[in-house]
Amino acid sequence: MVMTEPLATILVIEDEPQVRRFLRASLTKNGYRIVEAVTAEEGLTLAATHNPDVVLLDLGLPDMDGIEVTRRLREWMTAPIIVISARGREEDKVDALDVGADDYLTKPFGLGELMARLRVALRHAAKKGDAGDAVFVMDDLRVDREKRIVQIRNEEVHLTPIQYKLLVLLVQHAGKVMTHRQILKEVWGPPYATQTQYLRVYMGQLRQKLEVDPARPRYLLTEPGVGYRLKTS
Ligand code: CA
Repeated sequence: MVMTEPLATILVIEDEPQVRRFLRASLTKNGYRIVEAVTAEEGLTLAATHNPDVVLLDLGLPDMDGIEVTRRLREWMTAPIIVISARGREEDKVDALDVGADDYLTKPFGLGELMARLRVALRHAAKKGDAGDAVFVMDDLRVDREKRIVQIRNEEVHLTPIQYKLLVLLVQHAGKVMTHRQILKEVWGPPYATQTQYLRVYMGQLRQKLEVDPARPRYLLTEPGVGYRLKTS
């Protein structure tokens, strides 16, 4: 007998009919259940009544600032929030991520990107509360957090404590974007939350050690104006 996976419910809060239509078609076709809201007010109500597994939230809604919607959802909801923003509004994305959104999509986005973000979000939601696998493997990169060993193409790489902490943080959030502020707070501590130059220096060092071509990273990806993401697929 084939066991069917329970459908994940996606709450879409988006005022643009074309975007909603695209999301409805793509999500339904890929086996997700979808609940739709056109305003922030409606979205907040549906989030409370439908217990969604993921929320896709447009930051440009007519009745409320998307950052405020994110903040309100985060007061009680643990499900991942993926914000949808207009191109060029990097600050909005960063603000939303800093108040608890998990990831973002920039309009216009395609089906592949949408599905990749959803998979990562659902995987992280399923793992919440446990520390994740002790060993992370992605192509030639292997990070064994139990033994504290980092290998690239089967060669052990020696990292300083800060470099290691930075890499492990990205591994814990693999596939998800992390803002500069989030990384700085976790690795260096809250007083350093705005010292982006520290991060730039250490990310450069890490790329020198892990990437074949540090100028064209395969693992440690830059999200321009936002932060970094460790590649997972
Ligand atoms: Ca909009």
